[in-house]
Amino acid sequence: MTLNNVWIITDNQNAVGELCGGGRQLGAQVSVVLFGDQNQAKEAIASGADKVFLFEQPENSVMIEAYSKSIAELLRTEKADLAMVYSSIRGKLMAGRIAAQLATSALAISELKVEDGRIITRRMVYGGAAMRTEKTLSETVVVTVGTGVFEAGPKDETRQGTVTAVNPNVASDGIRVLETRPKQGEVVNLSAAKRVVGVGRGFSAKEDLKMAEELAALIGAEMGCSRPIAEGEKWMSKERYIGVSGVFLKADIYVSLGVSGQIQHMVGANPSKTLVAINKDKNAPVFKQADIGLVGDIYHVLPQIIAKLKAQK
Ligand SMILES: Cc1cc2nc3c(=O)[nH]c(=O)nc-3n(C[C@H](O)[C@H](O)[C@H](O)COP(=O)(O)OP(=O)(O)OC[C@H]3O[C@@H](n4cnc5c(N)ncnc54)[C@H](O)[C@@H]3O)c2cc1C
Repeated sequence: MTLNNVWIITDNQNAVGELCGGGRQLGAQVSVVLFGDQNQAKEAIASGADKVFLFEQPENSVMIEAYSKSIAELLRTEKADLAMVYSSIRGKLMAGRIAAQLATSALAISELKVEDGRIITRRMVYGGAAMRTEKTLSETVVVTVGTGVFEAGPKDETRQGTVTAVNPNVASDGIRVLETRPKQGEVVNLSAAKRVVGVGRGFSAKEDLKMAEELAALIGAEMGCSRPIAEGEKWMSKERYIGVSGVFLKADIYVSLGVSGQIQHMVGANPSKTLVAINKDKNAPVFKQADIGLVGDIYHVLPQIIAKLKAQK
């Protein structure tokens, strides 16, 4: 049994495909709220939207979360059963505000299904140590959804849908955008990488990461890390740390090097299909979850692996 009316709200056009894929599985009708232009609206329809509500964004004006009140009104008048908000930083803010307008709460979910007309969600609790299953009772359920929860369906450019331009009732929250600049530094989408090499505090100096980078280059992998490497040592950017407060992988293979395998790291690593771990401590927690474990010193083992791989090229 599916829902009547599923809504998707996203400030990231790249998330439309996956969220529409989920929307089509869960509901008879899929509506998408976009902060973009007519071309993006057409793309959303091709991805599975029946209706697009377009908030055309005048440059340097308001923060999109100021539209939350207008979006909540739309959800109420259109009798939305479910609002799935993409869990970007702004999306999470919006979800909280929309939920408050609808007198409910926003759930950050990692699974969602419909049973007997009710929405059942699963989400991580206790910093990733446990999963909680909840049956939602509110009229409109508000959830935040990240990448990897749903799969995008095939695009169909011939699909028909409606596009409605919304003249938003902008809540006066006292914040105006003065300037928008592209983010400085690297842009990496680790959750899209099929192969990832992750480094942890087993490395004792930044320059030693060259070994891991060499391995990554040889196997065509992206580089990731544990949180202390990004936030403590600052050897790698924050976009590269894996875990409950970082990135969730969807890789075919994750090779962890000198990572202890604490739960906060592993919840982000575990969605990978195959986990290979190298650690010098045979009791390191990472070995409980690894498909292939190698007890050894990375400074001894890695040069040998790299030499073998090079010899095979
Ligand atoms: C609320 C909260 C959220 C958190 N979120 C995250 C998160 O999202 N992601 C995250 O990664 N962490 C997170 N953490 C931190 C997490 O709990 C761990 O502290 C962290 O993952 C440990 O990083 P590490 O494995 O690199 O370092 P360590 O725990 O110090 O482990 C280093 C490992 O390297 C091994 N080693 C040492 N030398 C060598 C060598 N020469 N060769 C081989 N192995 C060697 C050691 O045996 C050890 O197992 C969070 C913590 C909290 C409290």
